[in-house]
Amino acid sequence: MAEVLVLVDHVDGEVKKVTAELLTAARRIGEPAAVWVGDGSDGAKASLAEYGAEKVYTAPAELNDYVVAPKAELLAKLVEQTSAAAVLVSATTEGKEVAGRTAVKLGSGVLTDVVDVTAELVAEHSIFGGATITHSKVRTGTPVIAVRPNAIPAEPAEGAAAIEEVSVEMSDAAKSAKVVERVQQEQSDRPELTEAAIVVSGGRGVGSDDFSVVESLADSLGAAVGASRAAVDSGWYPNQFQVGQTGKTVSPNLYIALGISGAIQHRAGMQTSKNIVAVNKDPEAPLLEISDFAVIGDLHKVTPQLTEEIEKR
Ligand code: FAD
Repeated sequence: MAEVLVLVDHVDGEVKKVTAELLTAARRIGEPAAVWVGDGSDGAKASLAEYGAEKVYTAPAELNDYVVAPKAELLAKLVEQTSAAAVLVSATTEGKEVAGRTAVKLGSGVLTDVVDVTAELVAEHSIFGGATITHSKVRTGTPVIAVRPNAIPAEPAEGAAAIEEVSVEMSDAAKSAKVVERVQQEQSDRPELTEAAIVVSGGRGVGSDDFSVVESLADSLGAAVGASRAAVDSGWYPNQFQVGQTGKTVSPNLYIALGISGAIQHRAGMQTSKNIVAVNKDPEAPLLEISDFAVIGDLHKVTPQLTEEIEKR
């Protein structure tokens, strides 16, 4: 059975949940082989076997000091060495760039914002606010598939991964952009937005930079906080929390939108959420078309009551 390469998404050696989801998807296609770039303990690498990694390729940690290009070069070289059936990466901003560059190097095709993938390498995409499902398949070469976090449930497997060191000669082109500084974004005890099981987002309807109504509900649910672009552009909430076409893509089990109209650009970032709840004073707000539940009313009255009820439980 051919290998399926999975690029491990980790922050300073801590593996992100999406990696388990990618390994689960890879098991349907062939033998999952993880690709680890950067520093990380042997224990963290071996733990990938819990989700079916049969092998972990580890490249020199210095590759992490360059922007994106070395990862694409590494994946393309591994595909050539192993005749891999597919490459899976997470559909994050960086993951999508790695996917595109890798596909160019391989002369193959790239599929992004994928929400499911079959053993036959048919990828499913959810578009137009979740109203349309499309299926696509790469027709030439090894497909490079970028899968959205939270789209495919992670299922544990049994096994023990062998860790294999890979030495990679980087081309000069791969070394053209070096990371000179990493700036830690604002730290919070809340879950990471793209990985959270529940997201509570606030929009222009919040009305000011006092986002405490959104944050309190989020904290009562152990959720991440998101924001619409209108809220971010107004300076009410930091840019890193924007959900949508030009922000983050989320796919949680539950997405609660407070005072968000549901413009297509916002939907693009949250339409694959499993359950959508809208609180809006306008019964005609477009977001209601894709919501499972809606509360029509003033969010400043509805939300504190909701938070209070949840805190009682
Ligand atoms: P509005 O559209 O103004 O909606 C506010 C909503 O709050 C209304 O439905 C109103 O009924 C409701 N409301 C008001 N007061 C209350 C209250 N007290 N209680 C309950 N409800 C209330 N947008 C994004 O979000 N993410 C993106 O990534 C993004 N990218 C974009 C990219 C491009 C190229 C462009 C052109 C636009 C992009 N936008 C994006 C902007 C998008 O088009 C919308 O302008 C934006 O999403 C609107 O945000 P909003 O829903 O918070 O505000």
